[in-house]
This record gives sequence, structure tokens and C-alpha cells, in this order.
Amino acid sequence: MGGGALMLGYLVTQWLATTRRYAFETKRNQLELTALAKRIEILNLKVQASPEVAWNGYRKFTVARKVEECEDTYSYYLKPHNGRPLPSFKPGQYLTFEIQPPGFPKAQIRCYSLSDGALSDDHYRVTIKRFTRDDGTPGVVSSYFSDEVREGDILNVKAPSGKFYLDVDIERPVVLISGGIGITPMLAMARVLTHINDQREIYFFFGCRSGVDHMFRDEVIELQKNNPNMRLHICYSRPNESDVKGEHYNHHSRVTIDLMKGVLPSSNFEYYLCGPGPFMDSLVAGLYEWGVPKKDVKFEAFGPATVKSGAKDGAPKADTGDQPTFEIEFSRSGKKIAWEPESPSLHAFAEKHGIPIDYSCGAGSCGSCLVAIKKGNVNYDMEPGHDVDEGSCLTCICRPAGNLVIDA
Ligand SMILES: Cc1cc2nc3c(=O)[nH]c(=O)nc-3n(C[C@H](O)[C@H](O)[C@H](O)COP(=O)(O)OP(=O)(O)OC[C@H]3O[C@@H](n4cnc5c(N)ncnc54)[C@H](O)[C@@H]3O)c2cc1C
Repeated sequence: MGGGALMLGYLVTQWLATTRRYAFETKRNQLELTALAKRIEILNLKVQASPEVAWNGYRKFTVARKVEECEDTYSYYLKPHNGRPLPSFKPGQYLTFEIQPPGFPKAQIRCYSLSDGALSDDHYRVTIKRFTRDDGTPGVVSSYFSDEVREGDILNVKAPSGKFYLDVDIERPVVLISGGIGITPMLAMARVLTHINDQREIYFFFGCRSGVDHMFRDEVIELQKNNPNMRLHICYSRPNESDVKGEHYNHHSRVTIDLMKGVLPSSNFEYYLCGPGPFMDSLVAGLYEWGVPKKDVKFEAFGPATVKSGAKDGAPKADTGDQPTFEIEFSRSGKKIAWEPESPSLHAFAEKHGIPIDYSCGAGSCGSCLVAIKKGNVNYDMEPGHDVDEGSCLTCICRPAGNLVIDA
């Protein structure tokens, strides 16, 4: 081989090495740029969430759009009536509404999770499903929303709050598990993770009966297209003839712990759950039995039924009859009554004995049942979503820790 050929070979090798190095550095720069963009996005979310743009008490919002998501379920796009910017929120948080349905002497307070990502400073979105009580009668506020609330209406809304949220700074793979309307906080989480181009693995389980109550189908599929790290598992417990497996849903089953064990590569994830009582009962218990540490299982209750089920496995057990007898003094009503350990909450105990205390969500989220403690302490079955002022308690989810005097 001549010297010219050797030189050519040497130059080609050098050129290949330089090209490879260049490609490698370009890729690394791209990754660094992506990571930087994500950090900026997170900082933006934090800046928007700063207290300067948050508000105290109720603020007026106009219903800008009302969109049907599936049978008996509508999304409401809410714009601040004064047109000023909105604070961001943490995905999983909720808004608290003060609604005055006709014929009710008092305004009704209800919480609704933000179902969009924390991506816009000009509107929020909540999604509300018509609630039917166990006795078949319609829920007051959710029916009012479905039947009466129209585009252009003005509503009183408190700022986003709640402690059930996904921390975007902690880069652990997550499993989002929802049943029915419990999808709302999970959708916000999945949207934010997709928006900030977060690289973590996401498993998204959603369960409903059939295609009729499969809300956000197109929106979630679109999210998955934009997020290669998201794996979707849609479960129909009773699919209709028109529901096609593989196209509309993935599993003809409920969301169960066995399904998750079959799908997940390990149990080493952070889990977020929201759904009906029995759904939470079995899944929370199943995850603990599978060895998932309690700190990695986070759940939100939409009503008192789910609080009880969550508390069963995730929080201190109810007092037993062996406990010493406490005395509860209701100072305003002038009553002293011995605590009944089987009472599910201080509120339920007060109500049973004819002592009126405001009440709404039953889940420690809306703050309606907040009462001042004059003496003594209480225990909570679960972490309250609503802030508890020093020296007060949320009666719907607490029980006395000993003798107690409260301002009721
Ligand atoms: C933090 C939080 C977030 C929520 N997010 C959403 C959401 O995104 N979309 C949505 O549609 N709903 C959501 N809910 C439920 C919602 O606040 C109302 O409870 C629901 O709309 C029923 O209210 P209603 O006035 O129609 O029914 P009513 O029967 O008139 O009032 C409901 C009352 O029944 C109690 N209740 C008993 N069991 C349940 C149960 N299983 N579910 C609800 N309430 C029960 C509640 O404590 C409440 O006092 C959320 C609740 C909480 C606490």
C-alpha cells in the first residue's frame, strides 16, 4: 500500500472519529438543553404559583366554556372575571367552590380537582360528574353544575389547594391509578409531566364500566402520542358491544392489583390513586401487601366513603373500646359528652348529639368544618388537604387524642 493510501486511510479514520465525537456532543448538548428547558419550565410553574398572584377567600370566575366529556360529565373552563393572571397549581390540587343552588338557605361548598395541567395563566379547568347518592337521589351541587351552570355564568372560587399532588422535582417513575371521575387529578399530573418533557416512566391505569363513561379518551391518547414514556392501561369492567378491545380499551377487567403485578416491571414506583371507595380499598391494601412502602402510596378521597377506606390501611386505626374514656366539651353549646370510640370523626360525634358544625366535603379538603380547639389535641386519620390553623381542627377527619374542649 502506497503512502498516499495510508494517508487517506488515516484522514478517513480521523474524520469518522471527529464526526462521531461531534454527533455525541450534539446529542449531549441536546439532552442538556432539554434538561435546562425542563428546569426553566418548573421554575416558571413555581413563579406563577407565587403568592403574589394567588388570592385569599373567594374570587369571581366566568364559565368560559362547558364541554361534555362523557355521559353526565362536563368540563368547565373558568376565566378570572377581572382578567388578571392566575397562579399556577401543583398537579393534583383542587379548587373550592361556593355554590348557591336555588331553594337552599345556605351556600354549598364543594371541591373539584383541576383536570388540566398547570400550563395556562388565563384559565383553569375542572371536570364534574353528576353524583348519585347511595339512596338514588341526585347530588345537589354536581346536578346543579350539569343542569344549570352555563357559559357566561359567574362562580365564586377559592385558590388552588391540597396536599395530594405530584412533585415534578422528584424524578421517580410513577404509576397513576384512577377509577371513573378520579381521573381528574391524574390527568393534570400526566399533562404536566408531558408538557415539561419529563423523562420518567409513567404507567397510567384508568378503569370505568364501558365506552359510555370513558371520559377524556382522545385527550389521553393524544398525551400518550406526545409522551413515549407513558404506558396506558384502560380497563373496562363491562364493555358494550361497540367497545373494541385493543382500540378503545386494553383489559376486560377492573383495575386490580393482580393486573398491575402482571404489567409493571417491579413494585418500585411512586403510586397515586383516586377513585371510588372499594377501588381504593382493594388497591391501597394490595399495594401494601405487595411490599410498597406507605410513603410511596398517595391517595385522594372525593368523599367520606373513600376516606374511610384509605384510612383503613394507611392511617392510624380507629380507637378501640379499651381506650380510656375522654370527655368532649362543646363550650358554645354548653354540653359535655363522653367520647364514643366507634365514632368515625369528631364531626359525626357532634352531629349525633345535636351539636351543629358546618360540613361539606367530609374529606378534610374544603375547610367548612374547621373549629377552634380551646383545650386538648386531636389525631387525624389522614393528612388534611386544607390548611389547619394553629389551635383549630378539621372535625370531619379528626378524633380526640384525649379530653377536649372545642368552640362549638
Ligand atoms: C379534594 C376533592 C376533589 C374532588 N374532585 C372532584 C372532581 O374532580 N370531579 C367530581 O365530579 N367530583 C369531585 N369531588 C367530589 C365533589 O366535591 C362532590 O362531593 C360531588 O360532586 C358530590 O357533591 P353533590 O353536591 O353533587 O352531592 P351531595 O350528595 O349533595 O353532597 C355530597 C355530600 O355527600 C358526601 N359524599 C358521600 N359519599 C361521597 C362520594 N363517594 N363522593 C362524593 N361525595 C360523597 C360528601 O361529603 C358531601 O358532603 C371532589 C371532592 C374532593 C374532596
